[in-house]
Amino acid sequence: MEISYTDYVVVGGGVAGLRAAVTLSEGGEVTVLTKDALREGATEYAQGGVAVALNEDDTPAAHRDDTLEAGAGYCNPEAVEVLVHEGPARVEELIAWGAEFDRKGGKLNFTREGAHHRDRVLHAGGDATGREIERTLVARIRGRRRVRRLPHHYTLGLVVEGGRCLGVWLVDQATGRERLLLARAVVLATGGVGQLYRYTSNPAVATGDGIAMAHRAGAALRDLEFIQFHPTALRLDGAPAFLVSEAVRGEGAHLVNERGERFMARYHPEGELAPRDVVARAIYREMEAQGGRPVLLDCRHLGAEFLPRRFPTIFQACLRHGIDMRRQPIPVAPAAHFIMGGVVTDLEGATTLPGLYACGEVACTGVHGANRLASNSLLEGLVFGHRAGRAILEAELPPPLLRDPGFYEPPPPLPGIDYLARQERAREIMWTYAGIHRTAEGLRTADRLLAELELPFDRYPADRLVAETGNALTVSRLIVQAALARRESLGSHYRADTAAERA
Ligand SMILES: Cc1cc2nc3c(=O)[nH]c(=O)nc-3n(C[C@H](O)[C@H](O)[C@H](O)COP(=O)(O)OP(=O)(O)OC[C@H]3O[C@@H](n4cnc5c(N)ncnc54)[C@H](O)[C@@H]3O)c2cc1C
Repeated sequence: MEISYTDYVVVGGGVAGLRAAVTLSEGGEVTVLTKDALREGATEYAQGGVAVALNEDDTPAAHRDDTLEAGAGYCNPEAVEVLVHEGPARVEELIAWGAEFDRKGGKLNFTREGAHHRDRVLHAGGDATGREIERTLVARIRGRRRVRRLPHHYTLGLVVEGGRCLGVWLVDQATGRERLLLARAVVLATGGVGQLYRYTSNPAVATGDGIAMAHRAGAALRDLEFIQFHPTALRLDGAPAFLVSEAVRGEGAHLVNERGERFMARYHPEGELAPRDVVARAIYREMEAQGGRPVLLDCRHLGAEFLPRRFPTIFQACLRHGIDMRRQPIPVAPAAHFIMGGVVTDLEGATTLPGLYACGEVACTGVHGANRLASNSLLEGLVFGHRAGRAILEAELPPPLLRDPGFYEPPPPLPGIDYLARQERAREIMWTYAGIHRTAEGLRTADRLLAELELPFDRYPADRLVAETGNALTVSRLIVQAALARRESLGSHYRADTAAERA
């Protein structure tokens, strides 16, 4: 097996990975690995914006209070303090690097989203905020000679010896060649798990690889039961579950059922701007009452001129699927969106495995508690990506010394397994039994059905499809088991069979 060296490996090219890479490049050579093109990840598709206490009437304390409340009393308060206090500097720095957020009369234009009590969400290109952040960070690393980008390099696993992470084991998807890439430290920034569910807003890369790899390497995980279901994704036969941002409701769109009733007031005093889990469950119930058909998001009263200008991406996506949001309501339903749990880290991104760091959606600092406040995750990537990079540089880690590379010789792939069919089946199981409404009986069924799909490998062959399938099955079962273990409903985790709701 070929072995090569770099100072720092970053797995993931989204906001968290790139922000970590920018800082790390001040101390040595950084290699950024992505399994598709560099920019393909959730960050690129983030629409609504980035929450940050920079508006005149806003304060970090107010941002903290909203974050803690959305998190259902389960956030790590120290992580929240870090997020809200360091967030403004990270966003101002991004603006200094060329990020262009939308402005009104020359001033930054803040909007409000669900469960925020101030206008605090910066957006770019109307509803293309993630794209602008990604563009800015990519431009920043392009200017740095010490950042190597390796797109289409799939990370199969972590190299661990003597209780320390020494690098990664990867396959170059263009040539099929595997190798070990050893480093002083590895940063996991692999994003989320949405693709484990039948309906998701997440891009295809979100298969939970980072969580599975960290688990196999012995790093601690937590809070995997907390999955946020975005209430309003497009639900049309043959169309992807394209996200219709919370900001659309923030601007005043109404949710109505098939009878034309604006139903959210029956569920929460804040109506359409109630916390996401409340809106998602309300829609779920309304859909149950109307034979599973989607509810409608009515934006028509917001103005034919305003809609394409404020929401150009959503407007065009709807049009592509035959929906003109100026003239007709959009059929919407919940979709798996964000995982609050993940690989346990401290506030510097260090996992429980020496040499391994994590940041962004794959990590769990506890900043989101049991439910993420809208638009806090881009900020999380900026703040904790930078912190992880800084902590690694300060730790002055030694170069890696691997004694036994033989362990990483991959087994041959097994013929006769339909991996895609297993993924499909697992997604269906997760949506049915480990989705918005969960019961012990359903979760036990899910665990049993997922166990039947498990792959017969101790180690994966050097093949992305096989490894992704295995990772998806591993993480799905971990989510199911975590959901079974938490008997009470909390935040995004709703146990329909146990009445008590701690809040
Ligand atoms: C449609 C949509 C809209 C959203 N809107 C908002 C919003 O408005 N505001 C907000 O704050 N948040 C929003 N979110 C959430 C937010 O975008 C994500 O939580 C955040 O971008 C995650 O960033 P990340 O850097 O952790 O991961 P990502 O941006 O998802 O990047 C993951 C990276 O890891 C790489 N990777 C994964 N596995 C491997 C592997 N095995 N080998 C090599 N590379 C690998 C991928 O190639 C990719 O580069 C939205 C999410 C979606 C899907």
